[in-house]
Amino acid sequence: MLEAARRLGDDVLFPRALDTDRAALVPKDLLDELAAAGLYGLTGPAEFGGAGLHDRRDVWMTVERLASGCLTTTFVWAQHLGTVTAIAERAGPELRDRWLRSLCSGEVRAGVAFSALRRPGPPPLTASRAAGGWVLHGSAPWVSGWGRIDVLRVAARHGADIVWSLIDVGPSAALQADPLELAAVNASGTVTLRFDGLAVPVDRVITIEPFDEWRARDREGLRLNGSHALGVAGRCLRLLGEAARMDAVNEIDLVRDELDAATADTLPQSRARASQLAMRLAERLVITGGGSSILLSTHAQRLAREALFLLVFGQTPAIRVQQLAE
Ligand SMILES: Cc1cc2nc3c(=O)[nH]c(=O)nc-3n(C[C@H](O)[C@H](O)[C@H](O)COP(=O)(O)OP(=O)(O)OC[C@H]3O[C@@H](n4cnc5c(N)ncnc54)[C@H](O)[C@@H]3O)c2cc1C
Repeated sequence: MLEAARRLGDDVLFPRALDTDRAALVPKDLLDELAAAGLYGLTGPAEFGGAGLHDRRDVWMTVERLASGCLTTTFVWAQHLGTVTAIAERAGPELRDRWLRSLCSGEVRAGVAFSALRRPGPPPLTASRAAGGWVLHGSAPWVSGWGRIDVLRVAARHGADIVWSLIDVGPSAALQADPLELAAVNASGTVTLRFDGLAVPVDRVITIEPFDEWRARDREGLRLNGSHALGVAGRCLRLLGEAARMDAVNEIDLVRDELDAATADTLPQSRARASQLAMRLAERLVITGGGSSILLSTHAQRLAREALFLLVFGQTPAIRVQQLAE
């Protein structure tokens, strides 16, 4: 998988990264390439056709190598990974048997709507009980992959619990997608979703989990998104060439080691460092390239915009505090 990620990142994604950046939507054939390499099933169980990669460092490095090729494609694909894990580890046998094989092969592709759980105050998306299951009301402010996904893993609050479900994303009067125009990864198909009484049958509920349990899990799961920043930083360095490399190579290794070893308490600081490193190296690339770095035909401006995006993507209050301190 690591070798496949290196090959895909360098030979398939990177040569098309500028075109992908300016496309209306991430090209489907690039996602198909990831599926053909088995990457949609990266963390899925072997009995369902997954690669069963359990060493988290290998998963993180896979994401980093792909992200150094093209952040947009990697970002859309990465939204899928958590759904494979959630269905494999937390769903009942019916959901596992129905979905896991096609999720691992990439025949069915998933997005996720959960990050609004981190927002303080009243939950933007709620679930209430109804005949045969649940009904969802409210909104999910950020959902990526729209137009390239078949199902969506949704987190909705129900009192002190979270109802996690797997919904179809086909046309529905109860589900409205408002496209967002982005300064980076615009081809990620990112929308705001409005739920107006969307019915979720009970057989589409993955699990119901106490909010406090999820919050503890979320604090420990912040590592993965640091790999996007390391991928962008690594590509900047390669484009800068040998002369600029010396110290920065070490710095990428140092930040990666720090991220790998981080505890839930130190992760926000390590994530902040990774984002700052991507920003700094992208700046260096822009400055080195001079005025032409601003041309849309250069990787420098693309990577600088992507580093900017990574300052806020997957941000938590604790990461924000650390970023501001840095
Ligand atoms: C382009 C893009 C695509 C994304 N795609 C997805 C996706 O597919 N699925 C998904 O689930 N998420 C997605 N996200 C969400 C992403 O993970 C969020 O950026 C992240 O969770 C922070 O949310 P926010 O920026 O909406 O924070 P906001 O709610 O806007 O808050 C900004 C910051 O202030 C903090 N804050 C807000 N209110 C308070 C308060 N009262 N007290 C203290 N701190 C406060 C927040 O925690 C956050 O750090 C996407 C984001 C972007 C930008």
